Amino acid sequence: MPAGTISIVIRRCQFILLEHNIICKIMTEEAFDVMVVGSCMTDLVSQAPRLPKAGETIHGQKFFIGFGGKGANQCIQAARLGAKTAMVGKVGKDFFGDNYIQNFKDNGVHTDFVGQTSDAATGAASIIVNDAGENAIVIVAGANMLLGSEELQKVLPAISCAKVLVCQLEISPKTSLQALRMAQENKVKTIFNPAPAIPDLDPDFYRLSDVFCCNESEAELLTGSSVTNVEEAHRAGQELLKRGCGSVIITLGPQGCVVLKEKESISKHVPTTATTAVDTTGAGDSFIGALAFYMAHYPTMPLEESARRANQVAAVSVQAIGTQISYPFKKDLPAELF
Ligand code: ADP
Repeated sequence: MPAGTISIVIRRCQFILLEHNIICKIMTEEAFDVMVVGSCMTDLVSQAPRLPKAGETIHGQKFFIGFGGKGANQCIQAARLGAKTAMVGKVGKDFFGDNYIQNFKDNGVHTDFVGQTSDAATGAASIIVNDAGENAIVIVAGANMLLGSEELQKVLPAISCAKVLVCQLEISPKTSLQALRMAQENKVKTIFNPAPAIPDLDPDFYRLSDVFCCNESEAELLTGSSVTNVEEAHRAGQELLKRGCGSVIITLGPQGCVVLKEKESISKHVPTTATTAVDTTGAGDSFIGALAFYMAHYPTMPLEESARRANQVAAVSVQAIGTQISYPFKKDLPAELF
């Protein structure tokens, strides 16, 4: 064999060994309990006596900045319960992007897979809330939409070793689909949250979901049937299950959720202790983040039990104003949940 070819072969072997070492390291010490491929949004919230008309400028009484985006919310809730989490997302190379990365770090979320781009601003939601509690919202997804195939390929070794992968629809659906596919090919449990719901959802989303978890309005949009009570949720769940998911959970606000499992052909209502809600923003994300934590930490726990505990976590989140700021930490919750 010519010397040039030998040196190419040696270099290739070295590269394979290095790659193998990295993968093994991730598998042993650094495997993540929960990985979330999804959105980061900065909420810019103004409280005003009323919503302004077109062309009008009015004075408001309060302004605050909050951290949101379904993907990030779910990741932060899982981390606060004690899961080893990593976020895969994209923010802008701007003040909000820097701030968001710091927010993940403050919550113990691994941020190596959160990229920053100069080609778009960090995703933002400009929200105006009036004294009657009504709101007007403009969402600009921005950098979230630039998360694509190239970034996913780079995180494949980490995804392939994770325990649970979670996706939603606030990034490009193609990217979510690819992430779910990577997870399924590597036998990683998947939770898919079809939010915000789109009417013609690619059928592969159902087939790639170990747990397909949505709320009443998303179930309604996807099935075309009314979902306003437990009975209707059971029926909508059956319809979603037929499309190929392993299990379906439909959350029902103060009524908890229904859980349907393909293998056991069961449909169970998992009630919760309804509490007087102060602010339900992000309750569904708190539920999903908690569900991911329980699935990762207690892989043999029946899904109904994980859902019962996730109900309890989400119930705490509705008792305080704000989204991530209202999510409980492990220390705030009863020991029986762990
Ligand atoms: P979303 O935030 O997506 O609209 P839901 O309103 O269905 O989702 O709420 C998600 C979960 O939050 C519910 O399944 C439940 O566990 C919890 N939850 C919501 N509202 C209440 C409430 N008033 N009391 C207790 N738990 C609640």
